Amino acid sequence: MTTETLVPVDDALTRYDPVMGLEIHIELNTATKMFCGCPTEFGAAPNTQVCPVCLALPGALPVVNAKAIESAIRIGLALNCEIAEWCRFARKNYFYPDMPKNFQTSQYDEPIAFDGHVDVEVDGETYRIEIERAHMEEDTGKSLHVGGSTGRIHGADFSLVDYNRAGIPLIEIVTRTIEVPGDKAPAVARAYVSYVRDLIGGLGVSDVRMDQGSLRADVNLSLKPKGSTTLGTRSETKNVNSFRSVERAVRYEISRHAGILDAGGSVLQETRHFHEDTGTTSSGREKSDADDYRYFPEPDLAPVSPSREWVEELRATLPEPPAVRRARLQTDWGFTDLEMRDTIGAGALQVVAETIEAGASPQAARKWWLGEMARRANEQGADLDALGITPLQVAEIQALIDAGRINDKLARSVFDGVIAGEGTPEEVIVGRKLEVVSDDGALGEAVDRAIAGDPDAAQKIRDGKQAAAGALIGAVMKEMRGQADAGRVRELILEKLT
Ligand SMILES: [Zn+2]
Repeated sequence: MTTETLVPVDDALTRYDPVMGLEIHIELNTATKMFCGCPTEFGAAPNTQVCPVCLALPGALPVVNAKAIESAIRIGLALNCEIAEWCRFARKNYFYPDMPKNFQTSQYDEPIAFDGHVDVEVDGETYRIEIERAHMEEDTGKSLHVGGSTGRIHGADFSLVDYNRAGIPLIEIVTRTIEVPGDKAPAVARAYVSYVRDLIGGLGVSDVRMDQGSLRADVNLSLKPKGSTTLGTRSETKNVNSFRSVERAVRYEISRHAGILDAGGSVLQETRHFHEDTGTTSSGREKSDADDYRYFPEPDLAPVSPSREWVEELRATLPEPPAVRRARLQTDWGFTDLEMRDTIGAGALQVVAETIEAGASPQAARKWWLGEMARRANEQGADLDALGITPLQVAEIQALIDAGRINDKLARSVFDGVIAGEGTPEEVIVGRKLEVVSDDGALGEAVDRAIAGDPDAAQKIRDGKQAAAGALIGAVMKEMRGQADAGRVRELILEKLT
């Protein structure tokens, strides 16, 4: 492996313009697989959800899953695409040990949906992302490489294959080239993936969990010298699995490409692996051109020709468009433009919405997700929905604060406990003995000690300077390790001294 020369992104962008293309794979949540009746439930014992069709045994014939077609059309419509009047599946020929047929049933020049667009917002500016196509295909199985230190095949003693995932329906959404101001490119890429996640999540056709692989993003990037109209050679960073990583992958590839081009080298057309721990990419395999896949129409499946009536029926089932939904939520929640923009920018719209639906006030939901949770997500390099705490739990914790059982400081401990897997908020409070003390007996004694320990402050309060109560409240809170009901402590101090 050669050492890469990296050019700082800002420096690279003075000489080059990035050109991006994003591919998103969405795993549909249909009950059965794309071409057979096998169940799709996650987490079953290896190779228990397979049949002759998805194992590609000789003579087995596939049948298209109608629900998957319906989901594909709804996704296409949500992306403002045209829906094909007639389209076919195609065989994409390549070898993978976890793909039993040695071809993937996909779509090639006849995708079910094409020519769409979405508008994403970054720093108050709107950028239109053109969608080239959204097509149907099937997932591969999973290989597990045992014995190596990296989990990759290189250095492994042996490999195991699980075909449960083989044949699960996927939709691949491919953008046209995205050319935006270079300094915005990483954020636009992130905003686009986040937008698509919210959009598809709203359709209810997929779990869209990046951390669990039901939404996976590939980042294509090339650089062209400023002023040039000729596209550079692209790299394709595969399976980036968080919004934050999408942004980092774009930045890293800008730095890496610039280093190669500055040195007079040429970028290799290849796939790259993204490494979450270092934020870097490493070489995968040399990327084939479409010709190498020897695509041809799948002879075992009938063409798909959705009637226009059906397409219009499905259009009528779409939820309100994201821009309309955002405007409505902003009004409902009473957020300022800036609060709303920060919420969207943090990828927190959905979790905030769910927290509010679960009973928290809009400002409390925003405070926790954009403050405490965003900080934790940043530390862990994870997205908000992969932190190990749900919107429902955040709402429960806020309800416990509102009920006076815990305060904001104790709530942070409750978050720690829930994320650490210690149980529900209620169980964490009991387990960690976190409840606020509001019992006057215990509080009264602590207040007496605080007054005795700070006669100056006590005298000031007797003289009418109520602001001095802060010092005594602080002393009580310290003694009770933050578990006193601060409001009640204040009342007791004033009762005793005035
Ligand atoms: Zn099957």
